[in-house]
Amino acid sequence: MQGPIAEVNVSKIDLDWNGAIAFLDRDGVLNFGSPNYINSPEELEIIPGAKQAIKELRELGFRIVITTNQSAIMRGLWGEKTIHAIHERLQEELGPLDVLMTCPHRNRDMCDCRKPRPGMLNQASQIIRDKSHDTVDWWGDKPKPIHPLDLMVGDRNSDMEAGWAVGARLFKVDENIGIKQVIERIINNDPGDDLRPV
Ligand SMILES: [Zn+2]
Repeated sequence: MQGPIAEVNVSKIDLDWNGAIAFLDRDGVLNFGSPNYINSPEELEIIPGAKQAIKELRELGFRIVITTNQSAIMRGLWGEKTIHAIHERLQEELGPLDVLMTCPHRNRDMCDCRKPRPGMLNQASQIIRDKSHDTVDWWGDKPKPIHPLDLMVGDRNSDMEAGWAVGARLFKVDENIGIKQVIERIINNDPGDDLRPV
């Protein structure tokens, strides 16, 4: 299976857009994660405060992109139909999301989309604003973002590294608290966490 699975709703979302993208990890940010994956819509449990945080991001004018590693797919546990059903449920809970990117691969598939690699972020940026970074130099300086307010929220270092690779402001959260842990910082235009990927 090639590339990430992309679900695109941008044209359906009416927004006074600020030009920036909020890239969000899914499990541990919006819904509680599980060591055995989220395998069905029934297993999806939204973290308290996530819906309000999405509302705040919309009021700030962000387009919202979900980037989620789901290697269960290439492990053969379930397929694209299931990810669509889970993401339908996610959007019933949180409201419509501009782009949902799912990397189905395992480490050994050596794809460009599994975080920490920034493929899902770049493809979503290309879809939304026809611009993206095309290379990443992990040993260089943090690249300039496409928009200075771009941000990444995640609970893992791999999320922070993927966000770093597109120059985004970085907000790391505890997997049991999720996005509500950092929403005030985002509202206050915090420059985000420092990170040195290598
Ligand atoms: Zn991938």
